[in-house]
Amino acid sequence: MKLFGSSGTRGVVGESLTPEFVLRVAKAAGTVWTGDRVAVARDTRTTGEMFVNAAASGLASVGVDVDDLGVVPTPAAVRYCENQSIPGVVITASHNPPEFNGVKLVGDDGIELSVEELERIEDHILTEEFDVAPWDEVGSCRSVGTVNDDYREELLANVDREAIAAANLTVALDPGHGAGSLVTPDFLRELGCEVRTVNAQPDGHFPGRQSEPVPENLGDLERLVRATDADVGIAHDGDADRAIFVDEHGQTISGEASLAALAAAFLEPGDFAVSAVNVSQRLVDVCDDVGAELELTPIGATNLITRIRELWRAGENVPIAGEGNGGIFFPNYRLVRDGAYIAAKFLELVAERPASDIVAPYQDYYNVRINIEYDDEAELTAMLNAADEYAAASDATPNTTDGYRLDYGDAWVLVRPSGTEPKVRIYAEAHEEARATELAEDAESALRTAVDDL
Ligand code: MG
Repeated sequence: MKLFGSSGTRGVVGESLTPEFVLRVAKAAGTVWTGDRVAVARDTRTTGEMFVNAAASGLASVGVDVDDLGVVPTPAAVRYCENQSIPGVVITASHNPPEFNGVKLVGDDGIELSVEELERIEDHILTEEFDVAPWDEVGSCRSVGTVNDDYREELLANVDREAIAAANLTVALDPGHGAGSLVTPDFLRELGCEVRTVNAQPDGHFPGRQSEPVPENLGDLERLVRATDADVGIAHDGDADRAIFVDEHGQTISGEASLAALAAAFLEPGDFAVSAVNVSQRLVDVCDDVGAELELTPIGATNLITRIRELWRAGENVPIAGEGNGGIFFPNYRLVRDGAYIAAKFLELVAERPASDIVAPYQDYYNVRINIEYDDEAELTAMLNAADEYAAASDATPNTTDGYRLDYGDAWVLVRPSGTEPKVRIYAEAHEEARATELAEDAESALRTAVDDL
C-alpha cells in the first residue's frame, strides 16, 4: 500500500494532508463501494470540518448520499456504520499532535477496511478513475445528531453496570480535549461513578495536554486522582479508541500492564489472544498461565483485525486482543478498539479490588531498546542477514512475522527495521533488568559485527 498505512493515512495539514487529497480518497471510496449512502465523522481537530466537507463533496460527486455524524469517538462512528450497514469515512489523526489529521475508512460491517480493500481504493486514487454523477444524481448530505447518545446507551447495556455502581467509585477522567469529552463523562456517571474531569472540553488545539495518553502527558490526571482521592484515573487519545489508567496512588499504569490484567480476567483455557510482535512478556506470561494461545501479527491495528477474522473463520474464540498502547479489542463485543468500553471493563475489575492490586503481577518487567543507525542499504542488508543467522543459531522460538522476534520463555528480543527512519531497532524484555540488557546487547553486537565486516 502506497497511500494507506496500518492505521489509515495521516499527515500534517496543508503539507502531506490536503482537502484535495481527502476529496480524491472520498471519490475513490464512493466509486468502489456499491451502496448509495456513506457516513462521515470526525474528532475534535480544528481542521476536521474542512476535511469532512471535502469528503462529503467527493462522495456526493460520485452519486453517494452522506450522513454527517459530526464530532464522535471513532468507535461510535464504527458502531453507526455497522448498525446502518453503510461504510464510513472517519477524519481523525488519533493521538497525533494538533497539526495532524487523517482519514480512516470503515466497511459496511463496521470493521476497518482490510489491506486488499484499501488497495482497490488506492488504485482508483492513483489512476483517477472516479464515477461522475450527472447533475440530477449527485448525493445529498444530512446531519445525524443522535450518534453519541445511541453509542452510550449500547455501551451501558453491555457492561456490568450493577457491579460498577455498587462499588461507589470515584473516577478521574482526562479525555485530552478529544471526542471522548462528548461521551465518557456522561457514560461514567450513568455507570454510577462520581466523575471528576480535566481537559474535558472538546478543543482541537489540545491546550491542556498532548493527545497521546503516555505517562509524560498524564501529570494533570495523576494530580487529579490524588487531589480527589479517586479510585482510578482514565485517559483517552483524541478519537477515544484507547484507554490508559492511573492507579489510586496517582501512578500511571503502563498499557502493557493493563492489557495483561484485562487478559488475565477475560481469557479462558483454549481461547486465543492476538497482539503484535512487540508484545510484552506480561501477555506471554498471562496466556501461559491461563492456557490460552497467543498469536502475534505485524505491528498495527489493521493486522490484528485481519488475524482475528482469520481465527473467527477457524471457529476460535478471541475474547481479547490489542497492543500495549491502551488500544484493546474485545472482539466478542465489537471488532474495534473502544476507549469507553475498555474503561468500563477495567472498572468492572476496580469494583472488586484496588487498581494497584489488579496490575501488581504485571509491574516488574524491564524493557531495553537499542537503535542502530545505518548509512546505506548495504548496511541494512548486512544487519538483517546477521539477524537471520542470529535467530537461526539461537535456542529460542523465532517469529519472523515482522522483523525477528526470539521468545526465550522468560524473556524475548526483537530486531526490526524502523518503518520511518534509517534505524534498526532492538527491543528486549525480561523480569530482570540484567537479562533484558544482556539479550539486547548480544543481538546488537551480532548486528554491529556484520556492519564492521563490510
Ligand atoms: Mg486513536
